[in-house]
Amino acid sequence: MTRQSDAYRALPAIEKLLKREELSGFTSVSELAYVKHEARNQVEQLRSQIALSNQEAIGWVIDSDVQKEICERITNSFANRPSSTLKAVFNLTGTVIHTNLGRARLPVEAVAAMEVAALGDVNIEYDLDSGQRGDRDEHLEKLLAGLTGAEAATVVNNNAAAVMLVLNSLAKDKDVVISRGELVEIGGAFRVPEVMESASCCLREVGTTNRTHVTDYEQAVDEKTALIMRVHASNYQIQGFTAGVADKELSKLAAAKEIPFVSDLGSGTLIELSQYGLPKEPTVAGTIAAGADLVTFSGDKLLGGPQSGIVAGRKNLIEKLKRNPLKRALRIDKITMAALTAVLELYREPESLQSRLPLLRDLTRPPEDIQIVCQRLAPLLSAKLAGRARVDVMSCKSQIGSGSLPMDLLDSFSLCFDPIALKGKRDAALLNLAHKFRMLPRPVVGRISDGRYFLDMRCLRDEHEFISQLSALNIT
Ligand SMILES: *Cc1c(COP(=O)(O)O)cnc(C)c1O
Repeated sequence: MTRQSDAYRALPAIEKLLKREELSGFTSVSELAYVKHEARNQVEQLRSQIALSNQEAIGWVIDSDVQKEICERITNSFANRPSSTLKAVFNLTGTVIHTNLGRARLPVEAVAAMEVAALGDVNIEYDLDSGQRGDRDEHLEKLLAGLTGAEAATVVNNNAAAVMLVLNSLAKDKDVVISRGELVEIGGAFRVPEVMESASCCLREVGTTNRTHVTDYEQAVDEKTALIMRVHASNYQIQGFTAGVADKELSKLAAAKEIPFVSDLGSGTLIELSQYGLPKEPTVAGTIAAGADLVTFSGDKLLGGPQSGIVAGRKNLIEKLKRNPLKRALRIDKITMAALTAVLELYREPESLQSRLPLLRDLTRPPEDIQIVCQRLAPLLSAKLAGRARVDVMSCKSQIGSGSLPMDLLDSFSLCFDPIALKGKRDAALLNLAHKFRMLPRPVVGRISDGRYFLDMRCLRDEHEFISQLSALNIT
């Protein structure tokens, strides 16, 4: 019995283990999360063996240098963890919100919240006060209402799902009136006419590509019309002889006809971006204030959170969405919920948002900062690629990406690689260079343009890691 209690006493506290020299090399958030979890895991396993009076385990805990041994087990387990084809990469493409590279990078506050949710149980749909089943949306609804002025909100898997849910809940087998200038393709398979069709709505186009007037809408609305829709043209712009109808006018018309006015903002920012010197984008609060009954927007574009789609607006309409069985198929899980809640919490303290939200930090990074990084790295790469490529620091433009206007560019700096190769072999040399960068332990993704290879350093944060793997770069 005493040996059993001695063994319990010999088990180290997790905090103590984590402070040990052997584990000091684990520094990134994900490594620390892994190590912490594994430390708990190892100690718990030993504790249950002691509880079962396993003499071998008890002897081992008492007689060995148990802290050192556990650290060794943790390090081994880390080294042998399953590898994945999904890897952390350096996004040096110059496109900040890059859909193919996973869009927004999350703040540590969100990662910490995700860890808690992932490792344990959470009251995602459980009311702690009554002990009854709760409402999944409640965790986010108050936050969203506070940030947007909306009465109610719901969250689904992404914005495409949000649009689909709105159309299918409010306009199934009915007409949706939309301007011809907004029948856009957002990229991938999101094309407005096709989305309408798969939500079982009938598209009723009005106006022309460049000009639509309020009378066009007026004449189109009849008893078959379920709603008036606006889609933010996101990735293209019509210039010249153009005319559109303001949100205020459309919402007035919709109210007079007793149908909802729905606006799909796409990126949908919660704050006035122009205050940071960024291009002006319609805000969710502004659109709701202008009278939109529902607004849909992405969680992982300008908002800077996890992949999700948010619908905010009138309570009676949100209730209809929640009653649609599709909502069940499109709902978010506890991990997304945790991350999105944490990100929205950051928005409640606007003064610190720029320093805490990685997306905003990257979008507002001063070009002089990026230039200094390029100047530090250029000599290292020049030396590494001597005889293979010329390396220069060049000013360039970054794109915001993911449905923000392609014309709205940000001043930035990049490393520019000019391959030294015979005429006719240049293209192959260029492709080879880009490929070699992508084959690094943490792949580097750049951009080829005008016969040169560019690494836009706007989104480089971990300069040390970038440098430390350059030894693995072998251009032949
Ligand atoms: C990006 C975008 C969507 C799709 O949003 P996802 O979050 O990628 O599903 C829909 N509508 C507009 C206007 C967009 O810009």
